[in-house]
This record gives sequence, C-alpha cells and structure tokens, in this order.
Amino acid sequence: MLCYIGVGSNLGDRKKHIEDAIEKLKNIEGVEVKRVSSIYETEPVGGPKQGKYLNGAIEIETGLGPREFLGKLQDIEKELGRKKTVKNGPRTIDLDILLYGDNKIDEPDLKIPHPNMREREFVMKPLKEIYEPSSSLWM
Ligand code: ADP
Ligand code: MG
Repeated sequence: MLCYIGVGSNLGDRKKHIEDAIEKLKNIEGVEVKRVSSIYETEPVGGPKQGKYLNGAIEIETGLGPREFLGKLQDIEKELGRKKTVKNGPRTIDLDILLYGDNKIDEPDLKIPHPNMREREFVMKPLKEIYEPSSSLWM
C-alpha cells in the first residue's frame, strides 16, 4: 500500500526529532520509506501559544494494515519522548497518517484521509512535493 504521512515537531531539537523519526520508520519491518519532502518552518495552527513547527511529508510503501501502521507510528512518538498534552499543543514529534492508498476510514481513533488536511497549508505544501497520484478518486 502506498501511503503518506505528515510529520511535525515544535519542541527541542525539531530537525533531529524528524530525522530520528525517519530513521525509526526505515527500521520497521514491512515499511519502506520511498520519499521525504522538504522540511518547512510553519506557524502553529490552533491550540495554545507555542513555538513554530517544522513540518514535512513522507511517502511510504507498506504491507502493514492501517491500524497496525498507526500503532507503529505511536510507538515512535513515545520513543521520541512525546507526552500527552493539550489538544493541538506543543509536541516533540507528531506522526499522522494522511493517506493510506485510496482507503477511507472514519472511526473515532482513525480517520483517513486525515481530517482537514486539504485546508492545512503546512500539510499540503510538503505533501504536494512528493504525492504520486495512484488514483485521482479523492482529490
Ligand atoms: P493531532 O495529530 O490531531 O494533533 P494527536 O497526534 O494527539 O493529535 O492524535 C490524537 C489521536 O488522533 C490519536 O490517538 C489517533 O488515534 C487519532 N487519529 C485519528 N486519525 C488519525 C490518523 N489518520 N493519523 C494519526 N492519528 C490519528
Ligand atoms: Mg497526531
């Protein structure tokens, strides 16, 4: 399955957190990192007053199912020291599944495509750099 994830960080060594997350993704069995976008500095959207983000997008080929894949992303967030904090608050690392093939999932803890991604410049700008339309169904 060709899928795209969004990555963001606005705490600590932001660039290193993103690089570490990419390394960890590469080490997951059944996950191949195919392309990484440029990394952009962006203003925070919503949430409390907080520092600027670095954001990027990653293209991945994986045989893992969407829930299994989400679990792996959450493991990486924990390993990189992400703490449960306020909604849209600052974080060392955020890994979101943006697209998973052309699957549509609408469950409380897993929504694909990622909600509001099309309105979010900080998601779409890096995603457009690497997006390979395998299907034009959703766009
Ligand atoms: P956000 O990314 O919205 O700022 P979090 O990273 O704290 O917030 O994620 C909160 C919850 O979002 C997670 O527990 C996860 O179950 C849920 N979630 C729903 N859809 C997705 C998705 N496509 N990718 C990642 N997390 C998702
Ligand atoms: Mg998230």
